[in-house]
Amino acid sequence: MILSGKNLSDRIKAGLAEKVRGYADAYGRRPCLAVILVGEDPGSLIYVRNKERACTEVGIRNITLRFPEDVEQSVLSEEISRLNSDGEVDGILVQLPLPAHIDKNVIISAIRKDKDVDGFHPLNVAALWQKAPCMLPCTPKGIMRLLEEAGVDPKGKRAVVIGRSNIVGLPVSKLLLDANATVTICHTRTADLPSITRQADIIICAAGRAGLLTGDMVPEGAVVIDVGMNRNAEGKLCGDVDFESVSRKAAYVTPVPGGVGPMTIACLMENTVEAFLRHVG
Ligand code: NAP
Repeated sequence: MILSGKNLSDRIKAGLAEKVRGYADAYGRRPCLAVILVGEDPGSLIYVRNKERACTEVGIRNITLRFPEDVEQSVLSEEISRLNSDGEVDGILVQLPLPAHIDKNVIISAIRKDKDVDGFHPLNVAALWQKAPCMLPCTPKGIMRLLEEAGVDPKGKRAVVIGRSNIVGLPVSKLLLDANATVTICHTRTADLPSITRQADIIICAAGRAGLLTGDMVPEGAVVIDVGMNRNAEGKLCGDVDFESVSRKAAYVTPVPGGVGPMTIACLMENTVEAFLRHVG
């Protein structure tokens, strides 16, 4: 079965839009998301446009601040400081990647924790690992929502996560662990990846390598979530999963496009609304 993130994200956004409609009257303003975009990275331009579109759908006020590729780090820090103290801004997102001369960690750490709707601030990361209340990072949160949608309870299941990045692999592993799965994290130095994935009930593929996971690596009935966003030789968007062979074995598989991507954006909208409610409430 194809597990559509597009359908679920549309439902999440419609639910949020209904709530947000009442907020202007109830609280005197709508939620607001500020996005900082540096340079002209083609991927980033698409992501930012999709986020703007989702804000419009949900009724979230959106401010996109654009800076040239050679912007000084201090200029970004000052802008973040201004947004931090702006009482009408609920969420601040810095579109990654940033140019090499800018220290990403300094910039992310400058965002106020309660406005860090991406969940990348060190205090939010620490809170996640301590099981304390926090802003969950959007992609891992979206993946867990997809599993829930498929009726898959990770409890007692063997989950294999391919990828150990700070933004996907590690946090989704922690969420799966908190949901009582037994988690194996794989990476480029993992020996014999197929022997590990063949034992999995749930496979989260977040490596950024087109065609990495093939049908022969997947046991019958597994649930496969494809996080990858790659361009194939024709320039078309594709995931890490060889959809054709894997869909013949898996019970559920997410498509690319239309899987994890839309869920990431829906969860960003949800985080922004949650931040707003904490600010007004
Ligand atoms: P990343 O920082 O490059 O991390 C990739 C991870 O995959 C690394 O841990 C790497 O191992 C591992 N890896 C790479 N090739 C591998 C292989 N052949 N076998 C096993 N492990 C391998 O990437 P990321 O930021 O986590 O993103 C991963 C993918 O998800 C990318 O395609 C990205 O575009 C996509 N993504 C999608 C969304 C969405 O909303 N759909 C959101 C975020 C990211 P090492 O640690 O050993 O290098």
